Amino acid sequence: MTLRTHILGFPRMGENRELKFALERHWRGEISMDDLEKTGRDLRARHWALQRAAGLDFVTVGDFAFYDQVANHIQWTGCEPSRFGFSGEEPSLSRYFTMARGVASEKETEKSAPALEMTKWFDTNYHYLVPEFSADTAFALHGERIFSELAEARALGHPAKVALIGPLTFLWLGKEKTPGFSRLDLLERILPVYRQLLTRLAAEGAEWIQMDEPILGLDLPNEWQQAFEPAYHQLAAPETRIMLATYFSPLKENFNLACRLPVAGLHIDAVRAPEDALLAADWLPAHRVLSLGLIDGRNIWRTDLDRALDFLRSERFAKLREVWLAPSCSLLHVPFSVAAETGLDAELRSWLAFAVEKLRELQTLKQAAPEDADLETLLAESRRARQSRENSPRVNAPEVAARLAALPDDIDRRASPFPVRRRAQQARFQLPLLPTTTIGSFPQTASVRAARAAFRRGEMQAAEYAAAMQDEIARAVAFQEALGLDVLVHGEAERNDMVEYFGEQLAGFAFTANGWVQSYGSRCVKPPIIYGDVSRPRPMTVEWSRHAQSLTRRPMKGMLTGPITILQWSFARDDQPRRVTAEQIALAIRDEVTDLEAAGIGIIQIDEPAIREGLPLRREHWAGYLAWATRAFRIAASGVADETQIHTHMCYSEFNDILPEIAAMDADVITIETSRSDMELLRAFGNFHYPNEIGPGVYDIHSPRVPSVEEIEHLLDKALAVIPAERLWVNPDCGLKTRAWPETKAALANMVEAARRLRVRP
Ligand code: GLN
Ligand code: ZN
Repeated sequence: MTLRTHILGFPRMGENRELKFALERHWRGEISMDDLEKTGRDLRARHWALQRAAGLDFVTVGDFAFYDQVANHIQWTGCEPSRFGFSGEEPSLSRYFTMARGVASEKETEKSAPALEMTKWFDTNYHYLVPEFSADTAFALHGERIFSELAEARALGHPAKVALIGPLTFLWLGKEKTPGFSRLDLLERILPVYRQLLTRLAAEGAEWIQMDEPILGLDLPNEWQQAFEPAYHQLAAPETRIMLATYFSPLKENFNLACRLPVAGLHIDAVRAPEDALLAADWLPAHRVLSLGLIDGRNIWRTDLDRALDFLRSERFAKLREVWLAPSCSLLHVPFSVAAETGLDAELRSWLAFAVEKLRELQTLKQAAPEDADLETLLAESRRARQSRENSPRVNAPEVAARLAALPDDIDRRASPFPVRRRAQQARFQLPLLPTTTIGSFPQTASVRAARAAFRRGEMQAAEYAAAMQDEIARAVAFQEALGLDVLVHGEAERNDMVEYFGEQLAGFAFTANGWVQSYGSRCVKPPIIYGDVSRPRPMTVEWSRHAQSLTRRPMKGMLTGPITILQWSFARDDQPRRVTAEQIALAIRDEVTDLEAAGIGIIQIDEPAIREGLPLRREHWAGYLAWATRAFRIAASGVADETQIHTHMCYSEFNDILPEIAAMDADVITIETSRSDMELLRAFGNFHYPNEIGPGVYDIHSPRVPSVEEIEHLLDKALAVIPAERLWVNPDCGLKTRAWPETKAALANMVEAARRLRVRP
């Protein structure tokens, strides 16, 4: 059996986020298009060199993008949306950035065009740009950029495999912008363009084409399923060898289909779907190549190489002619290299493998040690890492396990049902009809950020920093009182990020110095690493909230991030189910909730914006996930008395299809993003008869635009049509930290005025 190694894609930002900085400099007009192109070329060359140095049989071309790989496909397939009004045939990098970032216009007379919509790539935190299709969308080959990247790799002497998003996945990821047609109808128009591209790539030296069709892991409608075979027959040609790449989810009912397609190889995510990998060994025709994604491409843990080798040595694979080894998916989802993490202690560092280290793991699996180490050393390192993770007292905290084991069944139940709590809360807070509030953060001014940065660098003493934040809180309180808001917030000035702030104070979390992962365009995030049992050594927010409450007679809302959001936006442990990690975080947040209550905070908001995006890719797993996710929320929330009011907040996604589960979270009040969808969501809430109180966002905080009183009244009227006034709150869509003070003030003043007008309206 021949063994080869490859990767599905490499992180493109660069070791020190060179691409990000070059992009932003270019957008500010500081460097030219040529300089930017040069940065891209240098990064590709460096990343290919790393791949070759790790003994990969091909470098992967086509995974690079100046913004996003889906956007690349919009250009090379020639389907830039007409609404941008581009003239001429040839796509360009400036047109590409226009689609990605939109054209803003202050003046009514000038044309403005909002950017393409963004959405999350399957169940990852990477955002892609959504292709826009209409019934008359036409395609044409504009592959120059791919051809020239291939030529670059060839000129550097690398054997190359070109990675593309497959035609069906590409169409699937788009959106119909005109009614009365299905984007699947466009398949027959786009296939000839793919065909042309493949022919030319083969002619120019691409040894393999990787076609990513991760939608094969989804519950596909019949017609999409059935479209695969004819489509791939149309793409098949003797001179192109296609490696069909699937990942993120077991293939299930699409398994036979995937094995049957007329392609030269099939890649299976052996981390998420090990069964598929074993089955494929039996079912894939022997002359096809099986690519095994044995290394987790989307988490940061060192691979258990012994286990991977055992798997690989299985009889089943022995009969295959050729097997490729790979990470499960593109390495886009992990940071560059652990080498930069000198701030982490040696033990923790030895547990991690980022992109560069994963290349090395591949090399080890191929039983070919890199020049500077021998195979046994690498295996021993992996073994040591596993053992130290398994036995480390910092991973396993017996008191956390004991607490979990002893949880009473009703740990996730409030003492009384909502109607009883509601009466207690009404008696306590005496809020007016249509109470007004905000979602938590206020504008983070340069001075707030500067103080936080100085404190982090050790240039500002704790006392001085605390005083600066307390002043900021006092300003926020005075501001809200002046506006006449009913339920106040402290403003979150002390928080850099809603997950990092808590992770830094919880046991079981580590933070990297350079562990950046692309989120979209030039934006990167640095997710915390949850490596051990989670607990809360000491209160995290109580002092800030207590101080804020001391400044006002109005209720001050405590502000926390929920367990699912913390889990979802971190790199999680792979040595226990996510459910268990969520439960541990939930208990830590519960401790904070009860401490806030004891400190006199009567209203506590637990944000769960990420609950929807944690949904499994397959619908059959939804119920299981939602059961533990909502339970985790309730564990966090239910340690309080009836007269303490629990809020939750959600945004970023549609919730229509999980409303019963959202109701099952049993928060007394939910505030939710709605203004952009013109209250569409609300109708769903109305139809469902959402039982508790609800604050649909009436002010779109994503834009500096100030909504008028009348506009807000209009939105509230729509809300009142489906939700009784007694259960309706008035609030913005989300936190205000990205806004500036003047527009925030104007918009909130209008919001308060709109609520007042409605209260007195007969
Ligand atoms: N409380 C947070 C804030 O206001 C909520 C952020 C969010 O939902 N993304 O910033
Ligand atoms: Zn939000």
